[in-house]
Amino acid sequence: MIQLSNCPICKSDKIKDFIISRDYSTTKEKFKIAECISCDFLFTNPRPKEEAMNRYYENDSYISHTNNKKGLFNLMYQIVRKHAIASKSNLLLKTSNSKKHLDIGCGTGEFLNALAKKGIECEGIEPSDIAREKAINNYKIKVNKNSDLKQYKEKEFDSISMWHVLEHVYDLNKTITNLDRIINEKGTIVIAVPNYKSFDAEYYKEFWAAWDLPIHLNHFSEKTIINIFEKNNFKFIKKKGMIFDSFYVSLLSNEFKNGKKQYLKGFFIGLLSNIKALLGNRGCSSNIYIFRSIK
Ligand SMILES: [Zn+2]
Repeated sequence: MIQLSNCPICKSDKIKDFIISRDYSTTKEKFKIAECISCDFLFTNPRPKEEAMNRYYENDSYISHTNNKKGLFNLMYQIVRKHAIASKSNLLLKTSNSKKHLDIGCGTGEFLNALAKKGIECEGIEPSDIAREKAINNYKIKVNKNSDLKQYKEKEFDSISMWHVLEHVYDLNKTITNLDRIINEKGTIVIAVPNYKSFDAEYYKEFWAAWDLPIHLNHFSEKTIINIFEKNNFKFIKKKGMIFDSFYVSLLSNEFKNGKKQYLKGFFIGLLSNIKALLGNRGCSSNIYIFRSIK
């Protein structure tokens, strides 16, 4: 395990305990999240070493990588995912003029395929062998196993997306510095991450499924994600709530809390979270943030 004594973002040593949760899906081990008093950033601390993280991913219900269709819950997930892909690609097309796009953590490649159909040159990064091979075989997309951004040239991409990836990254500062290097002038960055300021996070507390310990190392609020990007030559353009995530995360959180998904209750809490996001400024269970390079 690695114990950090400083905030990974601002390096302050003024940190305190925020919440204790568990790896509910695989090992049931307890993990702690720390809060930086200086910049409000939350991070899993202590955290497993990078090479020891694999065993926490060994869980059948981690469906985003394998894309299999078993059971009602997974079927619903797949249907929602289809709509989500269309809405994500529309968002990118509306907010950028991209000729070349990189999707970091592209999974089985559906999002890149949607962009390729619109005439955008696409490339992906996907460390999972099963997912990467599906993306390559199904859609003939160029996908790299190596996730080191140093492999790319300066200003190589007009747009870059990270859909629920940044919360898994070990060295956030290094990742964002590299994004700044490989993005073109006025290029667009699209980031989706869970939002612990959402109503469903507050309601489920340590059972909130999007804490997802220990594989989520970084836990963002709107304020902290914007701070990190604005320190690195990016301008915040806009935010969009991911309304389906509020339902999905509420159902999973019920399961962690009570052993059952409780569809009606999960639907109700998810709905309440979305309504509160719509009426106030706390945001949905997960948000999409768009940033533009100002270098
Ligand atoms: Zn800090």
